[in-house]
Amino acid sequence: MKLNIIKLFMLLLIMSVTAAARDQIVYITRTGEKYHLEHCSSLRRSKIKITLSEAIKKGYEPCKICKP
Ligand SMILES: [Zn+2]
Repeated sequence: MKLNIIKLFMLLLIMSVTAAARDQIVYITRTGEKYHLEHCSSLRRSKIKITLSEAIKKGYEPCKICKP
């Protein structure tokens, strides 16, 4: 019984971690079709904060330079 509680706790922990990963912050530009990590050199012109899930939903693709 005690072991089941531990397993359940582990499952909840994994689920919360994956939920956090889905809501990772990435950056898009006003004209580009890719999403970027904060430090990417492609973000010099414009930088719009967006969640990763939102970027994917809007059809953005990961940048090949910064590999978000
Ligand atoms: Zn980039």
